[in-house]
Amino acid sequence: MWITYLDHAGSALFPESLLKAFTDDLRNNVYGNPHSQNISSKLTYDTIEHVRYRILKHFHTTAEDYTIIFTSGCTAALKLVAEAFPWIPEGTNQSSSRFCYLTDSHTSVVGMRGITASMNVLSVPVKPKEILLSEENKLPAEVQNCTTPHLFSYPAQSNFSGTKYPLSWIQDIKSGKLCPIKISGKWFVLLDAASYVSTSPLDLGVHQADFIPISFYKIFGFPTGLGALLVNNRIAPFLRKTYFGGGTAAAYLTGEDFYFPKKSMAERFEDGTVSFLDIIALKHGFDVLEKLTGGMEKIKQHTFTLAHYTYTVLCTLKYANGAPVVRIYSNTDFSNPDAQGPIINFNVLDEHGEVIGFSQVDKMASLYNIHVRTGCFCNTGACQMHLGLSNEDIQRNLQAGHVCGDDIDLVDGHPTGSVRISFGYMSSFEDAQTFLNFIISTRLSKLDSKNLFQPSVTKLTTESVPDDRSSFNCADKSSPIPHISDRELRNNLSAMKTTVNWQPLDSEAESISTSTAISKTAVPTCRRATGPITVTKIYLYPIKSCSAFEVTKWPVGNQGLLYDRNWMVVNQNGVCMTQKQEPRLCLVNPSIDLKKNVMVIQAEGMDPISVSLGENTGKEAMMCESKVCSHRVKTYDCGETLASWFSMFLGRPCRLIQQCSDMKNRSRQKNAEGTLSFLKIFVISHLVNITHMDFIPTI
Ligand SMILES: *Cc1c(COP(=O)(O)O)cnc(C)c1O
Repeated sequence: MWITYLDHAGSALFPESLLKAFTDDLRNNVYGNPHSQNISSKLTYDTIEHVRYRILKHFHTTAEDYTIIFTSGCTAALKLVAEAFPWIPEGTNQSSSRFCYLTDSHTSVVGMRGITASMNVLSVPVKPKEILLSEENKLPAEVQNCTTPHLFSYPAQSNFSGTKYPLSWIQDIKSGKLCPIKISGKWFVLLDAASYVSTSPLDLGVHQADFIPISFYKIFGFPTGLGALLVNNRIAPFLRKTYFGGGTAAAYLTGEDFYFPKKSMAERFEDGTVSFLDIIALKHGFDVLEKLTGGMEKIKQHTFTLAHYTYTVLCTLKYANGAPVVRIYSNTDFSNPDAQGPIINFNVLDEHGEVIGFSQVDKMASLYNIHVRTGCFCNTGACQMHLGLSNEDIQRNLQAGHVCGDDIDLVDGHPTGSVRISFGYMSSFEDAQTFLNFIISTRLSKLDSKNLFQPSVTKLTTESVPDDRSSFNCADKSSPIPHISDRELRNNLSAMKTTVNWQPLDSEAESISTSTAISKTAVPTCRRATGPITVTKIYLYPIKSCSAFEVTKWPVGNQGLLYDRNWMVVNQNGVCMTQKQEPRLCLVNPSIDLKKNVMVIQAEGMDPISVSLGENTGKEAMMCESKVCSHRVKTYDCGETLASWFSMFLGRPCRLIQQCSDMKNRSRQKNAEGTLSFLKIFVISHLVNITHMDFIPTI
């Protein structure tokens, strides 16, 4: 089953050849800590310097004009700007600085105002149309006597709608021709390029913004947890620093307030040891991207073609009564790749024009194995602007229990967010079509009881946009992008391929019945009913996501039906597997014999295998903690024999684990702020496993 991955604005997918080149490099070279002086450290230092030049070249600039400061990501780079900018606070005898930001900015930009406020600097949100208006009556370039520095921040591309804001603003604002707000002083420009640079070339030789924060996983998919702040050298010497970490000091005293920073700007701001192996991976990222695609301009054209095609078809989809199927949130008509990136943001409507909540669309999409992003996309400003949500609406939604990132998609029938699809360099025409077919088949074919509508839809998709298709097909043959990236992607995703046809309806049924089994059978009194309720059937799901086990009567324990979802199958990282990821789970039939105190597990082509119902008997008492449906559970591993049985049947390494009966310490944990270095965490878990195994005697 292919995954149709349409969240490239969330993260790009890395090509396999990038990982291979990177691991080959690590195998053949020893890279030490760049702060040491030995030969392996010198190699690291030199390679990092080389990567800095490579990044500068990618953005068409040189070390004369820009400094690269490595950070953990775009967010950390933004925070650094807020901390280091030479603000002049309120209440001095000079005129004070302003921090201005476009309202269509990422949360991580808006959050800078928390830092500026603590420094007594005022922040001013500016709406896109206010800038566009003042753009129409540009002032002559002004010579300013007042030198108070102000900062204006705007996204080169909105991560919500894909709108590209004019790069010409940079020069106009710096020269004083364009004023975000009326105030005298000297304007500096922060261009948030995190979304833009993943699919567009950026020429800093022409567009000399002062600060450009980026995250590398948005370009290459790997490494995660690494970003950079590109700082124009005209402002670099004026940046302030309070904290000083390892590697930043030229000299300092512990007993006295004496600290001298390193001369190089990068070294001064890179506190501690940079993520040096990840930085080395970037070199391979640039190489591979160039080789696979032919460069950013090609990526821009390729991704735009896909977005344009998808947009055009989406706009033509209509219900039988003429009502549109989607409402697209966009500032452009997708005619110009310089004004629009490969992101489409929309809500699906029913035939009466009512919005269908994004959670529902998300769930339906996952049944088709289409991965989209939903919600407000860390961009409340854009969300408000496009969905018409007032400040009061946002506050009221919070009171109604809706928080950013949850699945409360409608409050009083009004959407709290939307659906976003986004293309990357490895996206293919098939991805676009799979998505369109999903929208058509879930919305249009179902309603079509008289079968009147279906043919016209087919006609729409094939006839109304012939140009895009054929132009894309041409590209398919002549440009290296689709072939190579497709092949790469296939390799990349082959691990996810399964031999069994996945049946969406079964999975849906599974997820619905597991969640409602208890309330329908064991606890009927919870349901409001007028007459007595008779339980006719009881289904147990002893192993989560596997087949049901039907019984006529069953004991109820303090957590519901005894042994219901007491076991689960986890992957090699200890993470619970679901039928969506592993459809063959539904072919596993567990049954429980309470008298014999065993669960027998059967599957076609396998010898039945049994598990004792008691905890911890004959099993390795390996305790580990897992998270299931955002609950922390304690589990026991059921041992090698069962692990081999499941691995054999599912064709990939996995284990059976049993939930520990002590469930009192259930706790919900909040997600960490920002984007975690998720790939790194995987690596850590593997390292832990390896060291663990070294100490466990093989049986
Ligand atoms: C992704 C993104 C960010 C934040 O990047 P992180 O990697 O989460 O730090 C900021 N701005 C824009 C426009 C983005 O797309």
